[in-house]
Amino acid sequence: MRSLVLTGPGRLGWEETTTPAVHNDGEALVTPLAASRCNFDRLLLRGAIPVPFPFALGHEAVARVLEVGPAVQAVHVGDLVVVVWHISCGTCTRCRAGSTGHCERVPPASAYGIGGPWGGLFDDVVRVPFADAMLTPLPAGLDPRDASVASDSLSLGPMITARNGALREEPIAILGNGEHGLYQVAFARDAGFIDITFVDGDEERRILAGELGAHRAVAAPRDAGGRFALIVDAAARAEWLRDIFAALAPEGIVECLAGHPGDLPIPSLLAYVNGATIRCGVGNNGPHVRSSLDAIARGVARPSTLWARTVEWDDLPDAFVDEPRKLFAFRSG
Ligand SMILES: [Zn+2]
Ligand SMILES: [Zn+2]
Repeated sequence: MRSLVLTGPGRLGWEETTTPAVHNDGEALVTPLAASRCNFDRLLLRGAIPVPFPFALGHEAVARVLEVGPAVQAVHVGDLVVVVWHISCGTCTRCRAGSTGHCERVPPASAYGIGGPWGGLFDDVVRVPFADAMLTPLPAGLDPRDASVASDSLSLGPMITARNGALREEPIAILGNGEHGLYQVAFARDAGFIDITFVDGDEERRILAGELGAHRAVAAPRDAGGRFALIVDAAARAEWLRDIFAALAPEGIVECLAGHPGDLPIPSLLAYVNGATIRCGVGNNGPHVRSSLDAIARGVARPSTLWARTVEWDDLPDAFVDEPRKLFAFRSG
């Protein structure tokens, strides 16, 4: 089978790899049909994340179920499903607490598209070790491209609003540097946040954020004015770090949604004076896949039409490197 493999910074292409097989009763095999490039993939592509080459890319997809083990109950052969990107059993203590990015039954950072034995979601065939926990059937009528984003980037929207809902009457800021910030605006507005400032250096995305419901949009944190009870940093721009903490309200929260590659000095005195809470992480998407699909159905966000482009599956390698917008691939035929 074919796999989209990154062999070094900026070097990727289709490679023949071994087709996986079902190992245990609770597993499934799936074939991704619609998949998307996450902003995080662009860091991987640059070699900014220390993952040893080569490895298969891809961690956002809707797939068709090819085969299921006898213990699988939630999905059937032929179903279209969202594949969540973390390998997560759904039954251990951490998974049951919602921390599906930190499942106790697999090594840390077990996920699709970032190395390890799991391959990527642009592969022809993907093994899903905990099918009932990791696969969510696609509701009728949803565009598989839109739903593919629920594997990771889109489901970070309900994750953030769910755990910060008490701040919805307070001013918040969302920092974007790609599609993630736009998704956060859509979900914050849907969750009833009443004062959303969007910060992004790109004018087109600032306009889109306004259409999604941001109340104002500026190019950099120091232009934002005001003090924010919550700053969602989906930008990971090191040069903004000091201004972020300067814009935080007392006892405010910084959600570092995007991964800052490397080690950065935190403006620790500012953080101390403000009583800042800093929360970092790759996200626990599992509990938020269904609410993301529901949001797509309600029209909260249409990722495939939002600062995005779709290409044929075979055209992925070049588009993956060249396309600045959110990239979707569709396997036709
Ligand atoms: Zn991602
Ligand atoms: Zn688990």
